[in-house]
Amino acid sequence: MAMGEFDLIDHYFRPLQRPAGRNAADIVTGIGDDAAVLAVPAGFQLVAALDTLVEGVHFPVGSPARSIGHRALAVNLSDLAAMGADPAWYLLSLTLPRIDEEFLGELASGMQALADRHDIALVGGDTTRGPLSVSVQALGLIRPGEALLRAGGGAGDLLFVSGSTGDAAAGLQLEMRGSAGSLTDADGNPAAHALRQRFLYPAPRVALGRALRGLASACIDVSDGLAADALKLATASGLGVRVEADRLPLTAALRATSGEEKGLFQALSGGDDYELCFSVTATRLPELAERLLTADCAATCIGVLESEPGLRVVRDGRMLNLPSAGFDHFTGSD
Ligand code: ADP
Ligand code: MG
Repeated sequence: MAMGEFDLIDHYFRPLQRPAGRNAADIVTGIGDDAAVLAVPAGFQLVAALDTLVEGVHFPVGSPARSIGHRALAVNLSDLAAMGADPAWYLLSLTLPRIDEEFLGELASGMQALADRHDIALVGGDTTRGPLSVSVQALGLIRPGEALLRAGGGAGDLLFVSGSTGDAAAGLQLEMRGSAGSLTDADGNPAAHALRQRFLYPAPRVALGRALRGLASACIDVSDGLAADALKLATASGLGVRVEADRLPLTAALRATSGEEKGLFQALSGGDDYELCFSVTATRLPELAERLLTADCAATCIGVLESEPGLRVVRDGRMLNLPSAGFDHFTGSD
C-alpha cells in the first residue's frame, strides 16, 4: 500500500524527536500538533538559523540520500556553532518528487546519526511534493551577551581557521565526475575518498563554537569559501583582512589530488567546508591554545585584521589576485 504523508512522518521522522540519550522535557508539544511548544530554559536566548539544500544547486543530482540528510542538518549546526550556541531543536521542510521509502530511510538515518551526536531534537516540519529540496531550521540556546558575532573584531586581532579548507570543494568536483560515470574511488584511492567524504559528510564545529565563547572577538562559519567569508567577518567588524596564503593548512589528500596551485585556490575559494573562521586578540593566545585542547580541535593562524578595508591575500610576500571571492547565487560567480 502506498505510504501517505502522515504515515511517512510517523515512520521516518517522529523517531528523530528523541535523539539518543536526550531528555525531552523541554518539548512541551512536539510533532503532531499545528506547531511545537518548546520550553526555553530561564536565562537563555534563542538562536535561529535556516538553510535550504536544493538538488542540482547545493548537491549533485543523484547524491546519496544519507548525505543529503546529514548535510541539511550539518549546515545549520554549523551556523549555530559560528554563534557559539548549544543546539536544541530543529524543524524540517521536505519537498519530494515522490515517496521513495529507501531514499527516505537513508535521508532520515543520515540526519539522525548527526542529531544524536549533537543532542538536537526534531520538533516539527512540513512535507510537500515538488522538486527535491530539504530545508532545516535549527534553534539553539545561548546566554545573553555570549553569542559570537561577525562584528566584534579589532584591528590587529589574529585570524584563525579550524581544521582545513579546500577538501570539500575538491570532493564535490570528484562527486560530479563520479556521478557522470568517469571516475570512482571504490577501488582504492584513499585521497579521493577522503575528499568526497569531506563534501558528503561535513562535521560542524559545535564544540569549538562553544569553546570560543567569551574569547573569539568575531566568528563566521566557512560556507562560501575561506577568503570570501574572512572578508565578510572583517567587513562586519568595520575592518579589512590580510590572509597569508602560505599558512593555509592544506591536507595531504588535497595536495595529492589537486596539486599545490589548484589546492591552494580551492582552500581559499572553494565552498562547503563548514570550518570556523574567527579572530582573537593577540594577548589572549595562551587561552586559545587551552580551549582548542578542550574542544579537541586544531586551528591555524592564517592572517590578521587590519584597519584598511578589503581582502589582501599574500603569498611569498606578493599579493595574489583571486579570480573571485566566493559563491553568490544571484551573480552566479563562483
Ligand atoms: P499543518 O497542516 O497544521 O501545518 P501538517 O499536516 O503539515 O500540519 O503536519 C502535521 C505535523 O507533522 C506537524 O506537527 C508538523 O510539524 C509535523 N511534520 C510535518 N512534516 C514533517 C517533517 N518532514 N518532519 C517532521 N515533522 C513534520
Ligand atoms: Mg496546522
